Amino acid sequence: MDLKDKKERNKRHKKAMQRKKKYVDSRIAKATIEKGLLIVLTGNGKGKSSSAFGMLARSVGHGLHCGVVQFIKGVWACGEQMLFEGNPLVDFHVMKTGFTWETQDREKDIAAAEKTWNKAVSFLRDTTYNVVILDELTYMISYGYLDKATVLNALRERPPKQHVIITGRNASKELIEMADTVSEIADSKHAFNNGIKVQKGIDY
Ligand code: ATP
Ligand code: MG
Repeated sequence: MDLKDKKERNKRHKKAMQRKKKYVDSRIAKATIEKGLLIVLTGNGKGKSSSAFGMLARSVGHGLHCGVVQFIKGVWACGEQMLFEGNPLVDFHVMKTGFTWETQDREKDIAAAEKTWNKAVSFLRDTTYNVVILDELTYMISYGYLDKATVLNALRERPPKQHVIITGRNASKELIEMADTVSEIADSKHAFNNGIKVQKGIDY
């Protein structure tokens, strides 16, 4: 590229960026609503819980008060639990039953789900919690362990400025409708499906 072409290209780039800035600034100016968000992270790909815990890290960094409820999980401690448990800004509650194919006991799972849900409700009724994470909640609804209408009501009636992040596959259409932000993470490829072991720090 000779000097003249380079100058011409730089000029075009500057013009394009000026147009882009104008567009971005106008969109930023239009986004004025402040409210507690309902965020749903669903789909078959990896990245739902780790995204939720990424937002937890951001929130704690800003000094926000957070409540975390992990449904299903709990047989082995996850890195996020070890990092945030004991942090004065984070209240961490884990169902601790493990996966349904491990417990193989529907009645026991339902009782545990209800007990864990009560903890979630206590966060959803408390205005002092800025952010609430309900990790793997969708399974409690799709397995019929928790009543869908009860869950949707508790979400609807939460403090207006409280953010709630829900993770898990097969989020119901009502949950998706109610949410402000929904990410459906696609499974393009996963190491585990090629015989690679779960990895500390990456998978848990
Ligand atoms: P992560 O916690 O890594 O963000 P996730 O929350 O999106 O994963 P879960 O189904 O809750 O997905 O994942 C729990 C575990 O299963 C993690 O160890 C994750 O790496 C693994 N996993 C997630 N998606 C897949 C997949 N498509 N195939 C195989 N294993 C998966
Ligand atoms: Mg998960």
